[in-house]
Amino acid sequence: MMAIKIALAGIGKIARDQHIPALVASSDWELAATVSRHATVDGVEAFDDFEAMLQARRDIEVVSLCMPPVPRFDYARAAIAAGRHVMLEKPPGATLSECHALEAMAREAGVTIYATWHSREAAMVASAKAWLAGKTLTSLVVTWKEDVRKWHPGQTWIWQAGGLGVFDPGINALSIVTEILADPIHVASSELLIPENCETPIAANLTFTHPGGAQVSAELDFRKEGDQFWNIAIETDQGSLVLSEGGATLSINGEIQTTASSDNALQGEYPRLYANMARLVQDRGIDMDLSPMAHVADAFLLGKRTSVEPFIE
Ligand code: NAP
Repeated sequence: MMAIKIALAGIGKIARDQHIPALVASSDWELAATVSRHATVDGVEAFDDFEAMLQARRDIEVVSLCMPPVPRFDYARAAIAAGRHVMLEKPPGATLSECHALEAMAREAGVTIYATWHSREAAMVASAKAWLAGKTLTSLVVTWKEDVRKWHPGQTWIWQAGGLGVFDPGINALSIVTEILADPIHVASSELLIPENCETPIAANLTFTHPGGAQVSAELDFRKEGDQFWNIAIETDQGSLVLSEGGATLSINGEIQTTASSDNALQGEYPRLYANMARLVQDRGIDMDLSPMAHVADAFLLGKRTSVEPFIE
């Protein structure tokens, strides 16, 4: 099969850390162009204007959008209007309505659109889902605590409206929860801690209503120094499960199952996302599950806001 030509737009941290290595390593894909206002990638044709790329490179069928969520809609709309298939970094947009609009445009145009959730592709998520099937959930606790200064240096967009704050990583936990739980849950309470000088929360505590009455909660915190936690702990009528390292490690009833390499917890996620995208493009498929984002939107709707000390990087 011929490699599919793809353009990558928004050449920043995630494009360099994950997208470029995944594309270079895959025979399904040819990284044919980049679009970025400042950055370029050695050996790849670079554009600083998206429309110019769409006009000049009609041979490029697919675009993958790696910029922060607020600017992403305009790029996605332009790509669909130009008949290109579109892959969206998480979260797929800044609002639910714009994501619904993009899906409708893609259906109308007959192109693929894929709202990616990289954490769903973490090594042990499918095994966790399989183990949970048929068991009765009694509790689920998300603990997502990381040091924003370490993982998001200089990313001022995270603190601006639409940047999600601590929900930028927290939505990854919700993408796993919505993948592995058979039952739909919804936000019952939300507490948002917002630094005086920021527009988005630095920490959040959520509880959810579960149809079977299980206790479901999430504690998200960007202020954690030292040990970092990306854990989901689950109790059922037939034992317990802990997904840790963002889904790369699984333990069942206290026993660690096989684990992905711990020096790179994201390992394998992006190759799997691009394999999914290659299949979707072949079938002209649409995969636009917005359930993780709906929980975040609900957390903002119900959120009881508390002002906390300013965030100085
Ligand atoms: P980033 O490095 O801060 O930004 C990515 C690039 O987007 C920038 O280098 C910039 O490139 C471009 N950009 C920024 N603002 C823009 C604007 N207003 N209009 C057009 N382009 C703009 O961010 P990132 O960490 O890569 O995150 C990007 C997305 O990936 C986010 O949605 C994030 O949630 C997701 N993600 C990040 C990680 C991670 O570990 N960082 C992991 C998984 C997913 P130019 O200035 O050159 O145009």
